[in-house]
Amino acid sequence: MASGQISVQTENIFPIIKKFLYSDQEIFLRELVSNAVDACSKLKTLSSKGEFSGELGEMTIDIVLEDDKLIIKDRGIGMTAEEVDKYLNQLAFSSAEEFLEKYKDEASIIGHFGLGFYSAFMVADKVEVITKSYKDAKAIKWTCAGNPEYDLEDSDKEDRGTEIVLHVSDDSKEFLEKGRIETLLNKYCKFLPFPICFGQKTESTWEGEGEDRKEIKTEVDNVINEKDPLWKKSPSELTDEDYKQFYSYLYPFSMPPLFWIHLNIDYPFNLTGILYFPKVNNSIEIQKNKIQLYSNQVYVTDDVSQIVPEFLTLLHGVIDSPDIPLNVSRSYLQSDSNVKKITTYITKKVAEKLNSLFKDDRSAFEDKWSEVSVFAKYGMISEEKFYDKAEKFCLLKNIKGEHYTKAEYKEKIEATQKDKHDKIIHLYTNDVKGHHSFIESAEAYGYDILEMDNVIDNHFMQHLEQKMGYGTFVRVDSDTADNLIQTDEEKESVLSKKEQEKVEKIFKSVLPETGGPNLELKALAPSDLPVIVTRPEFMRRMMEMQNLQSMGGSDMPEIFNVVVNTNNPLVAEKLNKMRSAEKKEKFASYLYDLARLNQGMLKGEEMSSFIKNSLEFVS
Ligand code: ADP
Repeated sequence: MASGQISVQTENIFPIIKKFLYSDQEIFLRELVSNAVDACSKLKTLSSKGEFSGELGEMTIDIVLEDDKLIIKDRGIGMTAEEVDKYLNQLAFSSAEEFLEKYKDEASIIGHFGLGFYSAFMVADKVEVITKSYKDAKAIKWTCAGNPEYDLEDSDKEDRGTEIVLHVSDDSKEFLEKGRIETLLNKYCKFLPFPICFGQKTESTWEGEGEDRKEIKTEVDNVINEKDPLWKKSPSELTDEDYKQFYSYLYPFSMPPLFWIHLNIDYPFNLTGILYFPKVNNSIEIQKNKIQLYSNQVYVTDDVSQIVPEFLTLLHGVIDSPDIPLNVSRSYLQSDSNVKKITTYITKKVAEKLNSLFKDDRSAFEDKWSEVSVFAKYGMISEEKFYDKAEKFCLLKNIKGEHYTKAEYKEKIEATQKDKHDKIIHLYTNDVKGHHSFIESAEAYGYDILEMDNVIDNHFMQHLEQKMGYGTFVRVDSDTADNLIQTDEEKESVLSKKEQEKVEKIFKSVLPETGGPNLELKALAPSDLPVIVTRPEFMRRMMEMQNLQSMGGSDMPEIFNVVVNTNNPLVAEKLNKMRSAEKKEKFASYLYDLARLNQGMLKGEEMSSFIKNSLEFVS
């Protein structure tokens, strides 16, 4: 038996490995299983080149729990005594040391990369490596007990390959639990290219008919992984069903995806993967960060925020690329040219996919639009390049359920919805039911109304206004219908100037003296409501922004206008002709309440007194 000293510069590297990396401890398993996979891949390559002529045989990697030991066994290339010295005592050690030195202030990235072999010491106080090279050399055993000394001795291991035996330390006992290891294998090793076997599992089949029917239980290998994951296959071999099945394998409780993109590129960088468009509802946040990043089928992270543009984090699926530098800090990633190219590539692919769906089957695209739109709009707001492509397929939907591209819609409303400054006014509602009376009035003017009820629509409209230059968006309740699209036409009032002044006075007495709404008298169509509460577009947007900034807690009072329609018979005749001042006020107050009711503004005490008044009127 020989002993030696690992060539150390930092005496205390073992305590650092152990303590400092506490939060990312679990990655030791990924590191060791990846090494085992590498050892198998190397042997396979040698075999295919004719440099190894023996039988490859079964290449399963076994993970075994035994007393206080966790063992990782492979049948890969193994190591000779010289290689153990070179790789474990010198190379692996010094790279672990260098790595720790470099990143000790960025513990979070260790999970993305890892220390390699030496991460074993995060959970074990003693590690044995028993290995036999494919070169038919003698088997040897290397032992190191978490200090710079190691022992090297002969071993009687007969089979080719390597066994890493971890004597799990007292404070890492969790890694001796079957459930914990199974979870970790499922997380990190689910798609590794060689079978990963963790003990046995029971499988049951049924035999016989009727009363003779019985369950037969058999013990089979518990293989954790799917070694040929879908994204590595050629799209031409795959059916829609395959993609859907893979999706439900990745996200067991999700609704089926809308569609997907199979990514496959090997120049100027290497990247494969499948991106799915999930069925999204109105909430963006919960859907985020579901893309898994792999490097050569080894799970790395589900935080892809540095690799894909923000809006694409809404997608689901898998990206696999050995070219994404995982072992560097975030600021480096942002300036990395490969990462930039990958981002551009993915954005382009996504835009192309949407465009081809739009072109190939517009009506199917329209059916999916409500779900795709959140994502497309988000992309248009945040990525200039995406906007340029998406402009062609981005749709506006009106309240009749008809879809138009921006250009088509312009053509549709150009003649009827242009104001005196030659701006095209896009009318919209975010609440078809709530704005019913406003919609009715606007439609009476022959206007078309868009439905913009998504969380993202406010930003989206603002963005479109800036980009398109020729038009604006105006909510249907922001003004009386005659004034939604401002022209120079004026309607004549039925009331004389003097009568109008009187009406104004009555309503003034009904409204709060200070801080109340603006009052305006207008000669609208007699069929329009007698009193209308409107929320001016500009003020409303300001308030929405304030609310957003203060997370909904803004106490800015709501700003609205009260418009009295002097041509409505209830004003022009009934109110005008009333004698008693008290009656007049009561009536005006009632009309004002009706207008507020129509905007959902009557609550609590005001609502109760409104109901009381109504009962008085009908009795
Ligand atoms: P890396 O895998 O990044 O090279 P490691 O520290 O994980 O670094 O491993 C160092 C070296 O030890 C590997 O490059 C490999 O040559 C050797 N090695 C580690 N594990 C095994 C194994 N299971 N079978 C054969 N060689 C191994």
